[in-house]
Amino acid sequence: MDATVALAGNPNSGKTTLFNALTGARQHVGNYPGVTVEKKVGTYRLNGYRLSIVDLPGTYSLTAFSLEEVVARDFLAGEKPEVVINILDASNLERNLYLTLQFMEMGLPVCIALNMMDVAGNRGIEIDVDALSSALNVPIVPIIARSGKGVPELMQAAGRLAESQNKPISMVISYGDDIDGALMEMEEQITQRNFLTDCYQPRWVALKYLEKDEQVLKQGRCCDPELAERLTRKAGQIGDHLQKTLNTYPEAMVADQRYGYIKSILRQGIIRFKTDQQRLFISDKIDRIVVNRFFGPLIMLAVLLGLYHFTFTYSEVPVGWLGSFFGWLGGLVETHMQDGLLKSLVVSGIIDGVGGVLGFVPLIMFMFFGIAILEDSGYLARVAFMLDRVFRVFGLHGSSVMAYIVSGGIAGGCAVPGVMATRTLKSRRERLATLLTVPFMNCGAKLPVFALLVAAFFHRRQAAMMFGITLAAWAGALLIAKLLRVTVIKGPATPFVMELPPYRLPTFKGLAIHTWERTWQYARKAGTVILGVSILLWAMMTFPGLPDAVRQDFDAQRQAIRAAAPDAVLNRIDAPAAGEALPAPAEAIRAELLAVDGRQAEAALRHSVAGRLGTALESVSLWAGFDWRTNIALIGGFAAKEVIVSTLGTAYSLGEVSAEESLPLSQALARSPVWSPLAAVSAILFIMFYAPCFVSVICITREAGHWKWGLFSIAFNTLLASALATAVFQLGRLLGF
Ligand code: GDP
Ligand code: MG
Repeated sequence: MDATVALAGNPNSGKTTLFNALTGARQHVGNYPGVTVEKKVGTYRLNGYRLSIVDLPGTYSLTAFSLEEVVARDFLAGEKPEVVINILDASNLERNLYLTLQFMEMGLPVCIALNMMDVAGNRGIEIDVDALSSALNVPIVPIIARSGKGVPELMQAAGRLAESQNKPISMVISYGDDIDGALMEMEEQITQRNFLTDCYQPRWVALKYLEKDEQVLKQGRCCDPELAERLTRKAGQIGDHLQKTLNTYPEAMVADQRYGYIKSILRQGIIRFKTDQQRLFISDKIDRIVVNRFFGPLIMLAVLLGLYHFTFTYSEVPVGWLGSFFGWLGGLVETHMQDGLLKSLVVSGIIDGVGGVLGFVPLIMFMFFGIAILEDSGYLARVAFMLDRVFRVFGLHGSSVMAYIVSGGIAGGCAVPGVMATRTLKSRRERLATLLTVPFMNCGAKLPVFALLVAAFFHRRQAAMMFGITLAAWAGALLIAKLLRVTVIKGPATPFVMELPPYRLPTFKGLAIHTWERTWQYARKAGTVILGVSILLWAMMTFPGLPDAVRQDFDAQRQAIRAAAPDAVLNRIDAPAAGEALPAPAEAIRAELLAVDGRQAEAALRHSVAGRLGTALESVSLWAGFDWRTNIALIGGFAAKEVIVSTLGTAYSLGEVSAEESLPLSQALARSPVWSPLAAVSAILFIMFYAPCFVSVICITREAGHWKWGLFSIAFNTLLASALATAVFQLGRLLGF
């Protein structure tokens, strides 16, 4: 038995590849009769038979819109090949099956070659071949045409189909009541008159009349003009009816129903996506709102504000616990250690310094937890996507966003990885502008300082203030970037490409790991760098001690007070009975003594290295509202921003006398006469914009490729911050704050 086998399928489905694999050198190329479409024919030997293989032109459909479609259709209808091998691209199944359906409606003996199984596999597409085969009621063989895998099996299946005596049954797809009714009526008339039936199935002819197929209409007019006229009228009626009732037309209806049919088949678990297409689809839907021009920014603001509320509301309690713990620890050392340098080192240098930073661990942890949710869910990438539009305006790039965010754009990052993150930027200018401005973000080290000042002076509006601080950092960074891009680093912008990952539900494990990593980083920094810097600063604040003459003077003052007091009172002051309040006169004398101690401590601090530096700067810094204590802290902040809190803690605890009476730092600041809400705002702005910490400067130098950029960021940022803080403080005073 010799047979003809047609290879048919969409363009690029692999027809030619399969054809070559089957026929090798046994092929010849000609043209289809009367047209310039190439016709390739070859032979394949199967079980002693000669199969003649014809490579049909690739088409997506079998309407009569293109020459290729007409040629393919004419061949299939006219030559009636024993087998039609319909080759499908398995990675694009849904679209490819559209043509398959039309073959089956024509009642052709179809055998499906499911090609590109390797591509489908790589894309994570799994196809249940047996289920698809029984759903469509045709043989299906998976193949990889390029390697020849599965091709012999395919030909065996084709051979069985060619030998089989059963005539294929044409597939009947429902096109809705209106069309189905008309099709049935027309089919009957077509069958009665044998209208075009030597080539086509009756139902198929009727369908072509509904689709107004030029070629079939022409053939019909030649064959039986009277019936052709009737069929055309009937089709016209249906068209009008559909237009009126459903506002559609038969061709569209037919295409819709075919795709619907394919979907309904594939949805029965025949096709599975390992890389979850469904999730991609849902992501697209979510994104329609989340990155919407109007709702997107609103949602983003709401999310950020929500994050702050979450962080500050829920972390308050554990922050309090840690504060009490370090207070208790300080008290313990205070009562059990000998007075002297070592005790001063442990209490003021170590416990107050490191404790001040570790006290914020719960807050940092809550913040990082919130950020981890945004990051793991895929929302953070959306933020970057949306902010790209904004970044462009300021001479930056969409990829700058990530660097900003990592640096603390959503407060709590670190400029060091932020500076590293600019490596993804291709343009050198945009990269420089980004890495010079990322240190303005509110990194995890600045956060405790801001939190401290906000708690001290804006207790009622903590979340709103912190939110404002974030906005200020962004606005400042972007404006400065713009300034840099039109002055020091001029140049054109580069285009933005960024992929949005699908949304995922974060896992608790993932969140826990992310939160822990970052919190641990922060805590470790507190334990090492900050401990070192804290001790160094303690030394700077302790040495050189007061000259003997001055100390003797303070001793004399104390002596004078004690001499004037009765012995009984002095005894009670020196050895206070637990839980018993001192009588009023004794309390007054004790207060006098404490005041002397305080004045001595203050004099000692002023006399120290740090004190001298801070005092020398006071003449300038007072314009911005900073006294010498604040100056000491800000100098320390260059080493690491965390040190600002610990130094303030040390400076203020040195000025006090006993640990039991020491107030939390924020209360001490609130009571201090040099501090005020205005001074706090000025300090916040200064800390936000002044020189990046020592480690960041090193990174900037390395990433920018020249030490001059490191120096630039120290000098430029500090000058800018001073100008800003001074302007705000002076203006605020003028306005009466
Ligand atoms: P036609 O337009 O249907 O004739 O398709 P071709 O035979 O020209 O194939 C289109 C492209 O798909 C070519 O680059 C082939 O190498 C490639 N191709 C064909 N079959 C396979 C296959 O099974 N796996 C892979 N990975 N590529 C294939
Ligand atoms: Mg080809």
